[in-house]
Amino acid sequence: MKQKGWKDLVPGSVILEGGSAAKFKTGSWRAFRPVWKEEHCIQWVKVKDGKRGEFDYDYCKGCGICALECPGKKGIKAIVMVEEGK
Ligand code: SF4
Repeated sequence: MKQKGWKDLVPGSVILEGGSAAKFKTGSWRAFRPVWKEEHCIQWVKVKDGKRGEFDYDYCKGCGICALECPGKKGIKAIVMVEEGK
């Protein structure tokens, strides 16, 4: 039996409007969370008052990319991942 192509399928849903990730607080759960160590920060991303802002945990999924990419000061990371709830 030949499989149906995507054009043969009945549409299963309708998207009525465009979405935005800002509408959904995706940080309701995570296994790890990033913690900022200001003393090791080189402040290369300045967001608020000329300094780096805190994490917005409402949207953080704890993926760890920020900690991985953080250059830190003198090789010491300014963002470390800690187990959630500790
Ligand atoms: S990069 Fe990942 S761990 Fe860092 S703030 Fe964003 S979601 Fe959270």
